[in-house]
This record gives sequence, structure tokens and C-alpha cells, in this order.
Amino acid sequence: MSAATPRIRVLPPELADRIAAGEVVQRPASAVKELLENALDAGARSVEVVVKDAGRTLLQVADDGAGMGWEDARAAFDRHATSKISRSEDLDAIATLGFRGEALASIAAVAHVELATGLPGEETGSLVRIEGGTLRRREQIPARAGTSVTVRNLFYNTPGRRKFLKSDRTEFRQILDVVQRAALSSPGVAFSLTSDGEKILSCAPGTVEERIAAIFGGKSAASLIRCEAEAGGEGDAGGGALLGFLGRPEFARKGRPDTYLFLNGRPIVSRSLAHAVTAAYEHTLEKGSFPLIVLFLTIDPRRADVNVHPAKSEVRFDDENAVYRWVRAAARRAIAANDPGGERPDRPASIPPAAGQGWSLPGGLIDDLFRIGEPGLRAVGGPGGGTPGGEAVDPLPSGSPAFPGASPGTDRPCWQVHDKYLVAPVADGLMIVDQHAAHERVLYERAVRRFEAAEGGTQELLFPQTLEMSPADAGLVRELEPLLRSLGFQVKFFGGGTVILEGVPLEVRPGEESAVLRDVLGMFREEEGRLKLGPRERLATTFACRTAVKAGDRLTAPEIAGLLGDLLRAEVPYVCPHGRPVAIRLTLSELDRRFGRTS
Ligand code: ADP
Ligand code: MG
Repeated sequence: MSAATPRIRVLPPELADRIAAGEVVQRPASAVKELLENALDAGARSVEVVVKDAGRTLLQVADDGAGMGWEDARAAFDRHATSKISRSEDLDAIATLGFRGEALASIAAVAHVELATGLPGEETGSLVRIEGGTLRRREQIPARAGTSVTVRNLFYNTPGRRKFLKSDRTEFRQILDVVQRAALSSPGVAFSLTSDGEKILSCAPGTVEERIAAIFGGKSAASLIRCEAEAGGEGDAGGGALLGFLGRPEFARKGRPDTYLFLNGRPIVSRSLAHAVTAAYEHTLEKGSFPLIVLFLTIDPRRADVNVHPAKSEVRFDDENAVYRWVRAAARRAIAANDPGGERPDRPASIPPAAGQGWSLPGGLIDDLFRIGEPGLRAVGGPGGGTPGGEAVDPLPSGSPAFPGASPGTDRPCWQVHDKYLVAPVADGLMIVDQHAAHERVLYERAVRRFEAAEGGTQELLFPQTLEMSPADAGLVRELEPLLRSLGFQVKFFGGGTVILEGVPLEVRPGEESAVLRDVLGMFREEEGRLKLGPRERLATTFACRTAVKAGDRLTAPEIAGLLGDLLRAEVPYVCPHGRPVAIRLTLSELDRRFGRTS
């Protein structure tokens, strides 16, 4: 018998009472999940899972982790017995996957369980057999490293729960899912899963990328968009790091969400986080299709509570909104940088954030956007070089600091065609921009930023305007008032349907003040059924649509330049808020092909 100091203690009742109560073993997959957590908590480098009949007759998890001594091997089956927490404070910053001290007890209550374990350096190992909660056997066995738990005849004494189980296929799918999530959570650990004698999964220790490839196949892994971010200090998620692998929208699959979320190494379920990432795709996803999302979050465990539900897969964040915004912004940046246009250069660091009034362009910005002036590109056009049916506007400001080689005075041609499209040469061909969609995109993002930062810009009206509205419209204004205010609308209510408009967003043209407000409300209502968006996004969309330049608006050269410059700074410059493309690129090779050039 070994003299190893026991580490497992029964929790004092007041601490046990703070632990989210409830049954953990609903089905074979939940037992596998608990056993996997124990193996990983024990520092295993390799974990083997074996199941028969989808876990009904046998499930076994064997690890090469720390193991247990003679006393602990038995104490492990006591209720609320754990080596992982001991004080109330421990619950506020849980650092292990397990902490409830209930899994082994719960499993042993409804199955025939055998535990074989050993501590490194000990001469003998320990075996404990428990059936339906009753200790049947306890003996020394040959020395061994690590632990193996074998669970037979799950739910043999609870026919109710046995009947509740689904088909073998369904139960096995759940087990596979649990093993895959564990394997993703710990890429440095080897995993294998054998079902009815067949090796289903086997992954060697490796990097996150290698693990993702092992689970989802190398091809889909290679096409994922990598997303990385750190949050520091105040205002963010309170310090943390994020690593994501996001499926390209064009590979999104119809059906069910394909989301793998991890918080501090623990697989979690979070509608809010999943939504934060899908929201970043904006309208690039077809309705009902879902991209693959693998997201690892690391944040201070004191700022997230996993003691919400017995399965430990739900989380409550201290500042859910901050985490949401942080994740969405990071995902957005990553997705935007990977847009199908592919031509988008890195944002120049010197450009200040959008000023709010638009229409201003630091010299050379357009060059950055479209890489005009790159070797191999000759700018042609200028006045007189207009396209058929179109009209050339004045050349853009020249003498770009970004391209000092480009001599001052060289024309920077860019045409507005049919007062609808903007055409500009780019490094490898031609770029055509829909002026309305582009402006919509810019204004949409500006509105969203205002909601988030409350950085709104207002122009106060010299003469406040009185609007008589239907009670329904006035009610809607009341409801949306906080959002309208951060957008730049200043309203006062005067009983009944009377609304006084005292200020409007900077984008609103003089004379249009009350019309814009009315139209935005009308469109907001119309979109209600059509777009599945929250009120903020919907309001941003309608506001952008209403105030954006229209097809048919003639733009001056500085306006064009300003618009293209703002578009460069947009987070998702290639799609408008309605999901239509903003810009189309015609490459030289495409042109060559259409002209039948072979060289
Ligand atoms: P918890 O994981 O919440 O502590 P469990 O009932 O799952 O509760 O396990 C009880 C205790 O048994 C753990 O705290 C741990 O000390 C020990 N234990 C369980 N499984 C293993 C394992 N595979 N390797 C080493 N120790 C284990
Ligand atoms: Mg456990």
C-alpha cells in the first residue's frame, strides 16, 4: 500500500452548495466528456477513448497523466470530492476543466465502473470497482502510469434514462463531437477514438493548425481565415487574447451551425460569441448557411463564470458586451482583409480615423486604394479621354507622397460613368465602384461606430423643426431615441404625435432634415420583416441607404476621391449593407481573354 498523501477532499457543504446543481450524466457522450476532462486536468500527453455500441455497453478513457494513489483512487468516487478546488475563492477563478467533484460519483451510480490508476514511482497501482454506487472491489495491481476508467452497462439500473437514449448513430455522433472538441482544445495532446473495434480518429500532438487539419481535413483547414487579436486594459474585454479560424463565406454550408468555441481551453457553448462571429460576416452569408468557426479565447478566469450549469459548457462573462464587440471587431477585420477582391492593400498607418464629415482625402490615398502608379500601369485619360457614353471628371489630386516616383502633374484619372459608377485603373486592371453602394457602406460603418462609441456628430438646427407624426411613428422615435441620438438626431417630444427636431447627423443635407428622419423611420419599419437584424444594424442600414449619394448624383472630383478614401478605411469595403457588391474588378487577364489575346 502506498503512503502517497491523499489530495482529494470532500468539499465543505457551503462550498458544495455554491456549485451549479444538476445531473451531469445524461447520455454516453456526457460521461465521455467528464472522463476526458479528468484526463486533461491530470496533464495527460495522450488520451485513448474506446467505445462499444455507442457507449451503451462500454466506454473507456485511458490517459498517461498524473494518476492517483491508493486513497485517492477510492475517494475520487465520493460526491463533491475533488482535488481541484478547496476554498470558496477558487470558484471565482477556476483553472481546471473539472471542479464539481461529482462526475465519477454520478457515473458510478448508474453503471459498472472500474478505475485502474497509479502514481509514477510507486511500486503498485490501485484498482477500484464500483457498481451502482456500491464499492465491489479494491485491490493493488501492478504499477502503472496514468489512469484508465472503464464504464460498462451505462444506465443499467435506470431504465428511464436508458430509454431516453437516441439511436446508436446519434449517440455516437455526440461522442465523436465531444472527442473532437477536446482534441481541438488541446492540440499538444495525442487523441484517439475507437468505436466497435474501428479506429475513427487519431491525432498526433501538433500545432493548432495541424489539429484543425486532422479534425476537419487538410483542405478545409487550409482555406480558413486566421484571426488574431489581443485586448489590453480598460474598455476592452479586460485583457485577453483571441485566436480564430474562420471559414470563407463561399464555403459556408447549409444546415446547422458549425461552431467550435473555447474559453481558456474549455469547449463552451455561447450563442452570444457565436453570434459575434457570424455578425462579422455581415451579409456575405447566404441565409441558412453557416461557415466553420473555430475560436479560442483566453481571458482572465476571474472575468468569466463557468459555474453556471452542471455541464460546465455555458459561460457568463463579466462584461458580455465588451467581449462581444471585441470578438466581432477582430473577426470583421480578419474577414475584410480576406475579401474576395484580394486587392486591398494594408491600411496606411498615417490615415486618421474617419473624420465624420467625409469628402476629404489625404493626398495619395487613392493611390493606396487602387495602387495607381505601380510599375506596369500607365494612367491614360483625363479630360477628353472619357469612356463612351460617360464623362470624365477632373483628374484627381496628384503628386502622391505614397508614390514619390510618380511625377507631380501626372493625371490620376478616375471617371464617374452615367453618374452612377466610378471607374479607376488599378494595378492589374480596372476597378468599377457603385457609388451608392460604396457610400452606403461607408455611412453604415460610421453609424455602427457611433452606436458603439457614442461618438456621434450633430449639426444643431438653427430653427428647430416641428414634426407631426402618427402616434405609431412617434412611438417608434421614442423607442429608438437613444440610437437616434448617438446617430446625431436630437429630438424632443411634445405629447401626442408632435416631435421637435433640434439637430441632425452631419450627413444630412440642408433642407432634408425632417424628410430624412421620416424616411428612415419608414424604411426601418419596412425592413423589419425582411432583414433579420437587430435595431442598431437595421437603423444603420436604413440611415446609410437614405443619406448615401444616389445613382444619378453628379460628384465632383474631391467628392469621388473622398468617397474612395473613406471606402479604403471601411472594414468591409467590398459588400454594401444589403449584401450587394460595392466594387468589381476587371483584371487585365480577364480583358486579355475577352479580347482573344493569348500573350
Ligand atoms: P472533478 O474533476 O470535478 O474534481 P471528478 O469526480 O471528475 O471530479 O473526479 C474526482 C477527482 O478524481 C478529481 O478531482 C481528481 O483528483 C481525480 N481524478 C479523476 N480522474 C482522474 C484522472 N484521469 N487522473 C488523475 N486523477 C483523476
Ligand atoms: Mg472531473
